[in-house]
Amino acid sequence: MKTLENLNVQGKRVLVRVDYNLPIKDGVVQDTTRVEASLPTLHKLLEGGAAVILMSHLGRPKNGIEDKFRLAPIAPVLEKLLGKPVRYVASSPASNETAAALADLKPGEVALLENVRFEAGEEKNDRALSEKLSKLGDAFVLDAFGSAHRAHSSVSGVAEFLPSAGGILLEQEVKALGQLIANPNAPYVVIIGGAKVSDKLKVIENLLPKVDKMLIGGGMAYTFVKAQGGKIGKSIHEDDFLTKALELLATYGSKIVLPTDTLCGDAFSNEANTSVHPTNAIPDDLEGMDIGPDSQVAFAAALVGAKTVFWNGPMGVFEFPTFASGTNAVANALAKLEGAYTVVGGGDSVSAINKSGQADKISHISTGGGASLELLEGLELPGVVAVS
Ligand code: AMP
Repeated sequence: MKTLENLNVQGKRVLVRVDYNLPIKDGVVQDTTRVEASLPTLHKLLEGGAAVILMSHLGRPKNGIEDKFRLAPIAPVLEKLLGKPVRYVASSPASNETAAALADLKPGEVALLENVRFEAGEEKNDRALSEKLSKLGDAFVLDAFGSAHRAHSSVSGVAEFLPSAGGILLEQEVKALGQLIANPNAPYVVIIGGAKVSDKLKVIENLLPKVDKMLIGGGMAYTFVKAQGGKIGKSIHEDDFLTKALELLATYGSKIVLPTDTLCGDAFSNEANTSVHPTNAIPDDLEGMDIGPDSQVAFAAALVGAKTVFWNGPMGVFEFPTFASGTNAVANALAKLEGAYTVVGGGDSVSAINKSGQADKISHISTGGGASLELLEGLELPGVVAVS
């Protein structure tokens, strides 16, 4: 990958693709982690004498400009964190108005373009759009690790038309996650959770041969338990993946650790009545919502002595505090490990670690859920390829 060291930015207009897809509620930004993560690259470019033009997506607009997906609430957050005025350009990114609004941007100044997904060609990696966007700058920097697995115009397309490099965040992420792929120190333990096996099957299949243990929690565990003939009540599961789950258990059974007990609810609600049952004997009218207390202890014990750990996905429906304790237990167990290289990726697991107040005990917290999983699947990320 080319880095900022390979890019001459003095006096240049540098287009920077960042990932400012922040949670926004009633016009107020709820979490600024991704803006903070972009600051080292922005400071380096500004100190190097560049004018910086930022591009990002926000949410999934489908019909051009939609007010609720505007980047306007992000501009003041960025101004505060960067300590500099930011010129927010509210017109569509590839429009003539945008080009005109940037005409007098000088070295040391920063502009924030409107949501790149307001352009219909963005997600199609439309060549004409990529070329138009590229005309706004003299060089391109990709620092949006969270979007690097997307072959979109502002992520990879623009790189065809401009001298390009990966930013500091992209470089750090690729290096940190690369350590999980190239010769990770053993014992290597992976914790996978979340709703569905189907979403993470590829990463499970790619990692199982490489790891010493894989702890599987969350909704996806019930597909494995049902495949073994267990009674899972009303718990979420995927019948189409029972055969696959059995195959994985037959080949890698000694590595796979499933929850032996489950905290069940009588409704999908924080106010549900709860009870603990063996994961393979859940009553017909109940639903598995979190790993149970024995499994919390077993999962923590399975981590002891690990030298490399990767965690993606919650152990239960952790959005409901009643069913968050399994996920929190994993966060705490991970934070306690000493001498281990620990990596957490994916919005839910990252937010559990942040809430536990122990983020500083984790070796690397990834800003990209999907992107980190694709790297661990063994795939090349289109964004990284484009700046390589
Ligand atoms: P993912 O994005 O694949 O990591 O999945 C995260 C989602 O999985 C969260 O919204 C959780 O509420 C959900 N989830 C985790 N465990 C369960 C479960 N036992 N039943 C239903 N949903 C679950």
